Amino acid sequence: MTKHAVKTGFGSACPICGKPPQAEHRPFCSARCVKIDCNRWLSDVYVVPGDETVPLAGTGGADENDED
Ligand SMILES: [Zn+2]
Repeated sequence: MTKHAVKTGFGSACPICGKPPQAEHRPFCSARCVKIDCNRWLSDVYVVPGDETVPLAGTGGADENDED
């Protein structure tokens, strides 16, 4: 067996790169992966819905424009 199975006690590997997590950065393996996950999370939260583009200034807050 060449694969070194590291059991740190944290249960799982770094969710970013899969390396064994470090105590100071758990559950990540390094500050870099912490940052990556943070950015990923933020970008996911602040993701701009490109498909459903709501008109910023159009209807003026009215219910709907029934144009036919
Ligand atoms: Zn990592």
